Amino acid sequence: MCGIFGIENNETASMFTFVGLLTLQHRGEESAGITSNNDGINYITHKSMGLVSQIFKEKILNTLTGKVCIGHVRYGSIFNHTSDTEIVAHLVAKSKGFSAGDLIKNAVSKLEGAYSLIFIVGNKLVGVRDPFGYRPLVLGKNGDSYILASETSAIDAAGGSFIRNVNPGEVIVIENGKIIEDIYLDKKEKEKFCIFEQVYFSRPDSVLCNKSVKNARVQMGKYLAKQMKDIKADIVVPVPDTGIFSAQGFSEESGIKFQTGFIRNHYVGRSFIKPSQKMREVTARLKLFPIKDVIDGKRIVLIDDSLVRGTTAQKIVKILRDVGAREIHFALSCPPVISPCYYGIDTPNKDKLISAMKSNEEIKEFLNVDSLTFLDINNMKKACCTDEHDTSKFCCACFDGVYPSKITDK
Ligand code: SF4
Repeated sequence: MCGIFGIENNETASMFTFVGLLTLQHRGEESAGITSNNDGINYITHKSMGLVSQIFKEKILNTLTGKVCIGHVRYGSIFNHTSDTEIVAHLVAKSKGFSAGDLIKNAVSKLEGAYSLIFIVGNKLVGVRDPFGYRPLVLGKNGDSYILASETSAIDAAGGSFIRNVNPGEVIVIENGKIIEDIYLDKKEKEKFCIFEQVYFSRPDSVLCNKSVKNARVQMGKYLAKQMKDIKADIVVPVPDTGIFSAQGFSEESGIKFQTGFIRNHYVGRSFIKPSQKMREVTARLKLFPIKDVIDGKRIVLIDDSLVRGTTAQKIVKILRDVGAREIHFALSCPPVISPCYYGIDTPNKDKLISAMKSNEEIKEFLNVDSLTFLDINNMKKACCTDEHDTSKFCCACFDGVYPSKITDK
């Protein structure tokens, strides 16, 4: 996974896959591909670098015939070296089994780490999640067609209804509108869902762990406001788009007026997932435009989702200072990111993580802000949890350094 979508038993499978991938575009903007199968034997693939809307025109989608189809949006180099998904393909090619589920189960049992995968095996659609369940994978239905996707928002966009999460370690095989196999990997682990999905990665209209991402972010903002109850400010301004709902929550809790202080250029990709530092710097400059009327002379609570390298935040603060911000109180809707992620999110090495390398006072100076507040880790967990998903079921390793599975040099 970066973003994946699959549908079966549908005459317009490729069209629905296209719509699903458009909805999941935020999970990877470098390249995309769709594969279909129209006779149980032959696979048809189209893939290219670029955005989904650039790659797939109607003419191409019409060539992807068949009632079963899978698609992928990909961050070119989210994994540090090369495509690890290729390793999975080789394992599957060598795997033996009495059924499609058995074959996939035997192949992925050799893997360690984070994966959510979907396959076409002949006419069958297969989904599998690693035993910790780091990354999301959801099951939905549109009429007689089952859908598997990274996020519920993609099921919604394809006109379907969410049924349930694929469970950690579950292998689910679907054919002709029926679940024909539902088995589990032998290795059992305690669930450790990536909490960064709620903080940043997933769409706000998606539901994760039975809680809407939007509501989790609003709650994060409310907790931040409680932590900063003595702050004196005129307005709360989000860094768009991921800071918006936390800023809304902050405003509701504190009574400080919510204001849109930036216009975001939606035609430029998310800075966090652009691959090179140079590219990140260029896109950060192109992306946000301040509204001077709103900012000038004001004491501002500025809300962003997370602080990773600190370079983008430094630029955003400068933009606000340049148009007359009087005070900037910077608040993050997650704790300091102090450890790299080895489970598929492209956080940099420790020496590039500002919170791992500098004290809060040093960061405050580096960013040129009047105060700096991170969401307390327990408040973050509480904001994301539900009755069904308690705080022990989250991976928070990039915030607390506690990795659920053993990290080796490999
Ligand atoms: S280390 Fe961080 S980003 Fe990676 S899976 Fe855990 S919480 Fe998510």
